[in-house]
Amino acid sequence: MPEIPGLDAIRDFLNERLAGKRVDSAKALRPSIVRFYESENFETDGVGRAFGLIIRYGNDLTQTQFTEHLRPFTGGIKGILTRGKFIANIGNACGDEVLFEAEVSPSSKRRALSADDVRQVYEATPKVLIEAREVVREHMLPHIHKKVRGFLKVHRKGGEPCSICANTIGEFTANQRITNYCRHCQLGSLIKGAAEHVAPAF
Ligand SMILES: [Zn+2]
Repeated sequence: MPEIPGLDAIRDFLNERLAGKRVDSAKALRPSIVRFYESENFETDGVGRAFGLIIRYGNDLTQTQFTEHLRPFTGGIKGILTRGKFIANIGNACGDEVLFEAEVSPSSKRRALSADDVRQVYEATPKVLIEAREVVREHMLPHIHKKVRGFLKVHRKGGEPCSICANTIGEFTANQRITNYCRHCQLGSLIKGAAEHVAPAF
C-alpha cells in the first residue's frame, strides 16, 4: 500500500484523467484486485456509468483534537504513527520522516511525550506529507506504480551523516521494520531537559 503522499498523487492523477468519463467497457486484468467489489459482474455493471471524483479525507484535526485522539494509544510513538489505527497510511518511511522533522525520538513512549513533543509531531505531520507529495508528484507521475524516495531525509539513510547536524544517522529494526533516526537531533524534550540539569561529573 502506498503511503499518503503517493495516494494523494495517484488520486490527483486519476481525477484529472478519469473524472466524468464514461465507461465503455471493463476488464479485470488481475481479478484479485476487484475482490472487494460488491458485484460479481465487474466487467458489465460499470458500463455506461461515469467515473466520479476520488476524494480522500484529510487530517484537518486541530492540535487539541490530535492530542485527544493520541491519548488512548500506548507504546512507542513510531509504532503508534505507523500501525494505521491513529492515522491511516503513514507508513514506515513517512513515520521516520515525521519524527525527524518533529525532533522526537522514534522509541519515545507516548506517555513520556511532553506537550511540546506532541505539538511538534502535530506540526511535522502535514509538513512532511505535503513536501513529500510535491516530490512524489514530480518524480512518480505518470508511472503510478513507481516508488519515489527522493523526499527522504532520514529513512534508509542509516550510517550517513544527518542533514541537520552531520552526526551519523542511527538504525534499529523492530517487528522486521527498519527505523532510522538521528540520536542528536531527536532527543525529545524530556531527555534534552534532563541533560541540561545533569551536574558536571567532577
Ligand atoms: Zn542530526
